[in-house]
Amino acid sequence: MPRTAYVNGRYVPHAHAQVGIEDRGYQFADGIYEVVPVIAGAFIDEDWHWDRLDRGLAELRIDRPVNRKALSLIGRRVAGLNRVRDGLVYVQVTRGEAPRDHKFPTKPVPPALVVTARHLPVPKDLSEARMIDVITGPDERWARPDIKSISLLPNVLAKQAAAEAGAYETWMINALGEVTEGSSANAWLVSRDADSGRVVLRTHPADRHVLNGIVRTALVALSGQHQWQIEERAFTLDELLAADEAFQTSSGNMIRPVRSVDGRVIGTGEPGPVVQEILDDFAAHVAAQGGV
Ligand code: PMP
Repeated sequence: MPRTAYVNGRYVPHAHAQVGIEDRGYQFADGIYEVVPVIAGAFIDEDWHWDRLDRGLAELRIDRPVNRKALSLIGRRVAGLNRVRDGLVYVQVTRGEAPRDHKFPTKPVPPALVVTARHLPVPKDLSEARMIDVITGPDERWARPDIKSISLLPNVLAKQAAAEAGAYETWMINALGEVTEGSSANAWLVSRDADSGRVVLRTHPADRHVLNGIVRTALVALSGQHQWQIEERAFTLDELLAADEAFQTSSGNMIRPVRSVDGRVIGTGEPGPVVQEILDDFAAHVAAQGGV
């Protein structure tokens, strides 16, 4: 079945979908994007994705191309036209098309909106622990990775480095020696406090230095029902290597327990009990939205 894309108000064959060469996304990576997971036809945590898109547009002073209701309808229509029941809806907004000049166009131009959808098989059982191997590398991104900018060159290079090393993801380490996040996922560890025995899930604070992931947001929201606590505090590579468990979160890949980091096994190298609990919780969170 031929795919269909939405481009600036029109539904067009995906293979022929185009924006102009003077689009500022193409020229300057002057734009942002969102990826909304679709499971059994349900858009998971949809509002949080549109909230983040709105925030990014406001940060970059790009006008909203359409209101939220229209965007949601366009997303559903594109998913429907492409028969995507399990997959991803991709939304990209750029500052629009104008003669190449770094500063914003003096004559206002409409922002460009592109929406596409693609299939992505979802595991039958979302609680299934699919482990990954991770490597580490320097965080070479700009100083505002909290904005979901389409300027992803350091992320591309980091993911390629992982692929070439036979790993799934690169977790990035900043100049302070702290793990910020993966090239396309938030990074977490699980540890037990030596004195109190308390179980702690640690991840970098959702400040200017990481993307505030939507799966991350969901885990923070779900954490109230557990014995363990989430601590939003960066960790070092040494702390990571000493962790009981580690995992990463993203809309494209949900929750993936980490088997090894730079070839060194984390914990037992098997999915740990805390990660399994989180996988179960998140599966219930998705099911509650209709995404069985
Ligand atoms: N960090 C980065 C750099 C990412 O690209 C992503 C994936 N969009 C995430 C974290 C996870 O965010 P989310 O849970 O919203 O997919």
